[in-house]
Amino acid sequence: MNEEELLNSFYPLDFCIVSGSDLGDMGEPVSYDHNGTIIKFCCKPCIPKFRRNPEKYLVLLREELEAINASLEDNSS
Ligand SMILES: [Zn+2]
Repeated sequence: MNEEELLNSFYPLDFCIVSGSDLGDMGEPVSYDHNGTIIKFCCKPCIPKFRRNPEKYLVLLREELEAINASLEDNSS
């Protein structure tokens, strides 16, 4: 399963990569499609912040995904 499939099958993070707030803290989380990658934010104002500097936030997202993948591999071995 590649990163994109992992993201689209379920969203692995329980917090907003822009604000750091827990998803749900600011009301219903919002989903955003960034070139086919679904990202969830705590609220709509986080979307323009993400769009202003997507690479900065995508790095955070990738780091989290790698940590999750690493823990999944640990469990299966
Ligand atoms: Zn927000």
